[in-house]
Amino acid sequence: MIVYQEALHGTNGQFMQISAIVHHSKSAFQEILVVETPRMGRVLILDGIVQTTEKDEFFYHEMLTHLPLFAHGAATRALIIGGGDGGILRECLKHGALRATMVEIDGEVVEVCRRLMPSLSAGAFADARAELIIADGIKYVLESRASFDLIIVDSTDPAGPGAVLFTEAFYRGCLDRLSPRGILVTQNGVPFYQRQELVDSVRFFRGLFPFSGFYRVAVPTYFGGDMALGWACKGEDITRTDPALIRARFQAAKIATQYYNPAIHQAAFAVPAYLEAALG
Ligand code: SAM
Repeated sequence: MIVYQEALHGTNGQFMQISAIVHHSKSAFQEILVVETPRMGRVLILDGIVQTTEKDEFFYHEMLTHLPLFAHGAATRALIIGGGDGGILRECLKHGALRATMVEIDGEVVEVCRRLMPSLSAGAFADARAELIIADGIKYVLESRASFDLIIVDSTDPAGPGAVLFTEAFYRGCLDRLSPRGILVTQNGVPFYQRQELVDSVRFFRGLFPFSGFYRVAVPTYFGGDMALGWACKGEDITRTDPALIRARFQAAKIATQYYNPAIHQAAFAVPAYLEAALG
């Protein structure tokens, strides 16, 4: 039996039994590993950190897309930064009125995932509403003149190529790319082990946006408890959207989900006391 042990948090972490190594390469940006596991199906691992698994990817991909899209209610343009496996793109395009631009730094991740973990993108890359740009996300937001109703930062952790996506300069670039009611949502780690990452991002959000905060999702694969998803908005406090409106939008959309629903939408904004204190 081969066991994969993740070292993201140093002294504590997760292990998983591996039945086969399906792919292993080193791109210009990171080490790319796809392994077969008896419990979680195929698993994408970048630079030794578990990114997503076939079995529980929907928790995270549904929460990072449907929550902001149903909070906004009328989004037509989405920008995805990162997201190489295609899970975020797949969920975004379930919203019929949406066109999505995806800016991913490593084309090899896209190619490997389309070929070896096709259930994540489920054909989304071939959708006429999808535009894939292989580039550094910070370069795109600083140089583009396009406007978006939603920016989703589905990045790796703040190390290697992902580090720039946790900077004030990047968030300022996102602010400039957002439409008046535009919403930014970000992958912000597991705060029990990566608290400073969340504190820093929320501090930057507070300096740039009138409304910001974070919401929670507990993803089985992300060791250490709840994961924090940051949010920031120019136009409104999305924690105050009328629950009846969220329900009506969700019902009208007729989108099949496995995790997200209007009740989860509301509950996700409940912040534990220790993090309220850490965020001041
Ligand atoms: N969607 C998965 C999940 O469930 O968490 C994992 C995230 S996805 C694999 C992270 C992607 O961010 C990777 O494909 C990586 O290449 C990309 N990435 C890292 N730094 C980037 C940057 N500066 N600009 C654009 N994409 C970047």
